[in-house]
Amino acid sequence: MNLHKTKIDWATHTWNPVTGCLHDCEYCYARRFISRFAPHACERPSEPIKKLDGLSCYQIDHPARLVDECGEYVRSTPYPKGFEPMLSTYTLGYPAKRKIPSRIFVSSMGDLFGAWVPDAWIEQVFEAAKAAPQHKYLFLTKNSERYYALARGGKLPGDKNFWYGTTVTNKYLAWKWCDEHLMPKAWNTFLSVEPMMEDIVDFLERGCPPDWLIVGAMTGPGSKDHQPRREWVERLVNYARERDIPLFMKGNLKAVWGDDLIQEYPHELL
Ligand code: SF4
Repeated sequence: MNLHKTKIDWATHTWNPVTGCLHDCEYCYARRFISRFAPHACERPSEPIKKLDGLSCYQIDHPARLVDECGEYVRSTPYPKGFEPMLSTYTLGYPAKRKIPSRIFVSSMGDLFGAWVPDAWIEQVFEAAKAAPQHKYLFLTKNSERYYALARGGKLPGDKNFWYGTTVTNKYLAWKWCDEHLMPKAWNTFLSVEPMMEDIVDFLERGCPPDWLIVGAMTGPGSKDHQPRREWVERLVNYARERDIPLFMKGNLKAVWGDDLIQEYPHELL
């Protein structure tokens, strides 16, 4: 096994050493995806899954074998605890195995920087990424406070190939992000405005500009009723243009923006 090639248009591969999430976003694609591979009602892991003391976090060192009610092997899965937070230590070496430089979205199936994630897990992921410096690593969280907490503790690497992203879908998250911005230039930062649920520009203007902006629309069940307005996107484009920030529109924005999507990268990510 290795890194997964991805259809996500701003990355080339995904790497999921930590999966699962305790946030409860209604539009979560990762939860829907993992639920397809989690044990079904008539299946269970063939051996207990290690749980960290006092935490809702699990750890496995190989894909779990699932058995049926009679103890017969059914299949293997990387998600024996479904969407509960899990470190899969056997995946930590995947980036080093791939020699071709790639743009890797880290933990697309969860939130590596959720408040529940032990520092030790994050540090192991950073170390594994440092061991494969040929790649660019795109981290992404809903919980940007964790970046600042790690930075304050001297635990957030400033490697030039590490990019720290924050998902900012609405005004509240934009306001929160602006209040606790990583020091510009010390870390590469980006914002993922996906799914864009509100016009957030007035709130972004309070903070330091990020190094990159990604914007997209909601997909999946119920998404038709939650599409961004074109003028929200236009304001974000103007915000980016005025500050010389590269902006990347996801393919799912075509219904709002048309075919001429703006798809720019910071030159360091090319
Ligand atoms: S933060 Fe991300 S992974 Fe967690 S529930 Fe929300 S969309 Fe899903």
